[in-house]
Formats: sequence, structure tokens, C-alpha cells
Amino acid sequence: MILVLLGPPGSGKGTQSQTIVDKLSVIQISTGEILRNAVKEGTELGKTAKEYIDAGNLVPDEVMIGIIQERIVQEDCANGFILDGFPRTIEQAEALDQLLKKNGRELSHVIYLDVPEKELIVRLLKRSEIEGRADDNLNTIKNRLDQFKKKTLGLINYYKEKNKLVYIDGTGEQSDVTARLTRVLEA
Ligand code: AMP
Repeated sequence: MILVLLGPPGSGKGTQSQTIVDKLSVIQISTGEILRNAVKEGTELGKTAKEYIDAGNLVPDEVMIGIIQERIVQEDCANGFILDGFPRTIEQAEALDQLLKKNGRELSHVIYLDVPEKELIVRLLKRSEIEGRADDNLNTIKNRLDQFKKKTLGLINYYKEKNKLVYIDGTGEQSDVTARLTRVLEA
């Protein structure tokens, strides 16, 4: 199974991925995590990515596509994976399609986690207190939501046209969202 979890920042992509990986015997690929680790380790990638992340801007497509290209051919991806935070632009989505095709694979599902903007801001500010992520401050949050609307929201139509998109209500208890998600995946 190859799953894309789409949704604005704070919609629960990471939390839900972590909850369902074991059940599905797949792994989670979070591009945000990969970048944050690179920043922590001070690698070349981390040095490039830090400025973008801190400002709430998207890291350039060619960098992100390179990361995914290397990651999805690793052995632990053989059984399937959940993409959490990728793709975020049409260019990334097209590159993903090509990479999967080259490897004889295809997307099983694209799920959009739907959460109203007001709730996203509340969630992200709360997360900043718990996790202390540098990009969870009000200014950066607003820019991340803006970037989402400008660059990522177009993916809804991209995947709708391919008959891949399923909407899920991302509000309410985490366990309820997981139940909705599981129902779609088991259908
Ligand atoms: P996330 O943890 O998914 O919210 O990502 C945190 C930050 O990492 C984003 O605000 C971007 O700066 C960067 N990032 C993560 N994934 C991508 C992607 N697919 N394309 C561009 N930038 C990304």
C-alpha cells in the first residue's frame, strides 16, 4: 500500500500516520522529519533547508524530489509506505507519479484530512508548547497556511482528476479520525 496523506499543517497527518503504520505493516515517510533531522545533524541538506523551514516556506522542489527518489527505493519501503508531507506542489506530485511508475508501483490512496483553519491555528499553537518546534509560532504558522493554499491546495484537483482523492473529516477525537481513515483503507 502506498498512501499519500494530504492536508494543511496541523491537520494530523503525522499523528495519524504514526497510528496506522503498524496496523498496515507499512512505514511512515515524513519529509518534515527528514528535514528537521538533517538540520539537527548539520548536514548540507540541513543547512539548505533551515532557512526555508524557519520562515515557513517550502524547500525547493528539486531538493524534495531528490530526497523522495532516494528514500522510496530503500528496503524498508518494499511493503508500502505513507507519505506524510509529500507531495506539496504539482511538480512534486508529477515527479512522484514518474518515480513510482519507474519502480512498477502506483499510489493506492490519497486522503485529504479536512480541518477548518481556525482549529489548525489553535492546534499548532498548542503543539508549539508541547514539542517546541521552531516553526510553530504565529507568524510562521500564518505563512505555512498561506503556502499551503497557494501551492498545495491545487493537489486536490490533481488527484481528483485521477480519481484518487478521498476526503476525511479531520476534526474531533484522534481515535475517531483514525477510525474514519481505517474505514476508507479497508473499503
Ligand atoms: P511538516 O513537518 O510536514 O509540517 O514540514 C515542515 C517544513 O518542512 C515545511 O514548512 C517546509 O518548510 C518543509 N517541507 C516538508 N515537506 C516538504 C515538501 N514536500 N516540500 C517542500 N517543503 C517541505
